[in-house]
Amino acid sequence: MSDVPILKDTDRSTGRGALQKNIQAALALAGAVRSTLGPRGLDKLLIDDDGRTMVTNDGVTVLESAKVEHPVAKMIINASSVQDKIARDGTTSTVLLSAEMLQNAWHLVTQGVHPATIARGFRMAEEHARSELSALSFASDRSHQLLATKTCLTGKGHESMQALLAQLALDAAEAVLVSTERGPQADPTRVKILPQSGGTIGDSNLVTGLVLAKNRIHKDMPRHIKGGKILLIDGGIERRSMMGSVKLNVTSTGVLDAFRAKETELLEQQVAQLKSLGVDLLACKEGIDDDVRMMLTDAGIKAFRRVARSDLDLLARGCGATLVHDVKRASSADLGAFISSKNETWAGTVHWIVETEEGGATFIARGSTEAVLGEVERSFADALGVACQLVEDARLVAGGGATQVALARRLRRYAESIPGREQLGVEAFADALEVIPRVLAENAGLDPIDTLLNLVAAQSNAPASSSDHIGLDVIHRKPENMLTQGVIEPLLIIDQGITGATEAAISVLRIDDVLWAKQDPVMADVPEMD
Ligand code: ADP
Ligand code: MG
Repeated sequence: MSDVPILKDTDRSTGRGALQKNIQAALALAGAVRSTLGPRGLDKLLIDDDGRTMVTNDGVTVLESAKVEHPVAKMIINASSVQDKIARDGTTSTVLLSAEMLQNAWHLVTQGVHPATIARGFRMAEEHARSELSALSFASDRSHQLLATKTCLTGKGHESMQALLAQLALDAAEAVLVSTERGPQADPTRVKILPQSGGTIGDSNLVTGLVLAKNRIHKDMPRHIKGGKILLIDGGIERRSMMGSVKLNVTSTGVLDAFRAKETELLEQQVAQLKSLGVDLLACKEGIDDDVRMMLTDAGIKAFRRVARSDLDLLARGCGATLVHDVKRASSADLGAFISSKNETWAGTVHWIVETEEGGATFIARGSTEAVLGEVERSFADALGVACQLVEDARLVAGGGATQVALARRLRRYAESIPGREQLGVEAFADALEVIPRVLAENAGLDPIDTLLNLVAAQSNAPASSSDHIGLDVIHRKPENMLTQGVIEPLLIIDQGITGATEAAISVLRIDDVLWAKQDPVMADVPEMD
């Protein structure tokens, strides 16, 4: 085989050897984030090539910043990134679960069970676990949702920041909640995050409507307008800028004046058109010439210039307006509507606040230093993602490993009903789920084996009504009803975590051949075109 020319510069490992190496890579990866899990998890200090530092407790941030070469490790990082994108939480748990599934699978492989059989067992266990998971979930009220949003901030900032951010994130999610044919939908991208240096985290707040750190372009324009029509321009209202160097041949007196007068006339025409369209409010991505400011003021149009494209997009969605390239192409169909537009001065900076029919909200992030501000922004974005899922689907499950232990107990009973070797795969999957309470115990300085045994015993001795809610309370360091302790998690996060981890583990189990190029392929020189 090795003399097949195509494999000349390639390292090859096959069968068990390949699987073992791949599993080692997955375990090494899990080892890197293991200590961050849970409220007693520790932080990691990340340093990039330029020496910039970041302290984080977030599994996916650690993994995405690491320069990982191994393709299997990359597959698991990808599962964690997908978890971050879809569920905004549970990234460390996903990596731990995936690696644990693979480790347990390896034990079975060494006993002679084929990886494909294990993969089938995993798939059966996944299906069963997901249906049991939805049976374990319960509908929630607002106070539960608040606690669940707070749980997703585990390990980020201190307790008081978590409570405040959870509250503001849930308020924001409710502000962008709309009912559609597909049911209630809350789109987190409709919430703007506006960082403001100065003040403390506790000064962060939520404002209904879209807030821009912008002042109107002329002080005589009204500070406050109650409703009207808005036009959004993807360009500006400026004199034409000459492309390249242009030489004007002035042959007689007055030519230059005539040229300037024509330019002014063109600008006047644009303002006249805005007036005839009935525009009350104007926002441009680019500049508005100084003499146009006066014309707009006289026309009773309140205007803003150099508005970021992202803000224009949010305005367009909120007001139902269409962005136009320039005033000449604007028609009444492009206009949007707003409820109010006002300018207010906060902490010495003028802000423009636009309220629209479609809701929308702005989170004003405050923090004393850039690093704190960054953390507030990131934490709020995570909490918002979770809160938006919760207002769409309010089903919750108990945290602190309670749900994973409850699922493992059910899976073991289910395994008994399976006649073939797949039974072993289902049991291995059940054992893997228990990695969550074990690592939570480890990070709280408890013995993972004793803690897990105590947890399983506590669940089986508790009355049926509360048994599935008993998890490890890492603050009191003993099994507790996690609902009473307020440690609750959205069903979707746990569900997505199980799906993502199983998918990644099965993909690794399916690989039995790794071909690794020893060096980068040398590209032949591209022949020059004539
Ligand atoms: P992930 O990246 O997987 O979200 P976290 O570090 O955020 O990892 O930890 C989440 C885990 O911590 C969840 O299993 C959650 O139930 C658990 N957890 C949060 N607060 C507590 C608590 N007070 N007691 C026990 N477990 C907790
Ligand atoms: Mg988390």
